[in-house]
Amino acid sequence: MTTAIYPGSFDPVTYGHLDVIRRAARISDRLVVGVLVNSEKVPMFSEEERVEMIRESVQDIPNVEVKSFSGLTVDFARKENATFLVRGLRAVTDFEYELQLAQINQKLSPEIDTVFFTTNLKYAYLSSSIVKEVSRYRGDISEFVPENVAKRIYDKQKKE
Ligand code: ADP
Repeated sequence: MTTAIYPGSFDPVTYGHLDVIRRAARISDRLVVGVLVNSEKVPMFSEEERVEMIRESVQDIPNVEVKSFSGLTVDFARKENATFLVRGLRAVTDFEYELQLAQINQKLSPEIDTVFFTTNLKYAYLSSSIVKEVSRYRGDISEFVPENVAKRIYDKQKKE
């Protein structure tokens, strides 16, 4: 049985992430989406909220689990018996950072490989931060995130 980990901040999950999740779930028996909690950035959504939003959005994919983790991704991957990590590449700007991350992870844990999914061109421009930016100015985000996520973003921003 092959287990893959898709780690990220997912603050919040977008259609770009969901596209990668769907495709990665097709090539693994079990895909664990790992919500990273110890990132240096201050997130808009709590760990629980980010996990819930992903769970609500992947209900129809049976082999996907969503968990949060802190610490090193490779330690989380080992704990879950994963053999590969999944990451997404949107543009050349992602490449340098992703390459460095994959290389350090390979150094830390040679038995775990990183597999990259190139973005679905429909979502190449999409990032969690751009969605938050557009919604802050009341722009339409319905093509960027599922309805449940859009609602939570607007609710959160009303409270700000
Ligand atoms: P991180 O903070 O770890 O970069 P993100 O939640 O921003 O976490 O992204 C997680 C992964 O998903 C990264 O590898 C990122 O490049 C990828 N990703 C984000 N948005 C998209 C998208 N629109 N298409 C493909 N991959 C994406």
